[in-house]
Amino acid sequence: MLYNVKKPILGFENVLQVELHEIDGLFSSLDAIGSEIISWTLVNPYQLREYSFDIPKDVQVLLDIKEDSDFASCSTNSENNYLIYQQQLKELQEINEALEAIKTNEYGICKMCEEPINPERLKIKPFAKYCIDCREIVEKEGNLR
Ligand SMILES: [Zn+2]
Repeated sequence: MLYNVKKPILGFENVLQVELHEIDGLFSSLDAIGSEIISWTLVNPYQLREYSFDIPKDVQVLLDIKEDSDFASCSTNSENNYLIYQQQLKELQEINEALEAIKTNEYGICKMCEEPINPERLKIKPFAKYCIDCREIVEKEGNLR
C-alpha cells in the first residue's frame, strides 16, 4: 500500500511517499518511494503487549483521527504475544549491543575468537556476536547469546 508522508520523518525529510509491505503479523517493511533507497522495518506494537497509547494532537489532526476511534486504543493479550515480546526484547538488546559495538569499532568482530565475522552472516543476522564456528561452540555449551 502506498502512503503519502504527512509529517516529515526526522532525518528523512525528503521522503514524501512510502510503501508498506506486511512481512508477517509482527513485522512490516516501510520503503521510501523515490530516488533514495531507504527501508525501515516496523514492529507491530499490538503484537508485543497489551497496548494503548495517546496519539499526539497534531498527528491526530494530520491523520484525521477521532479521539475514541479503535485506532487510538487497542489491546491484545495472549501468552503467544508475550513470548514474542520476550523474543523482541532480546533482539532489541542485541541490536543495542551491536550499535554500541559500532561506536567502539568492535562491530562484526567475533566476541570469542576476535576474528571478523563473515559479512554474509552479518547480512542475515546483523547483530551476530559470534562467527559461525564459535556460535556452534557457544550453542553446545547451552548459553547462546
Ligand atoms: Zn569466532
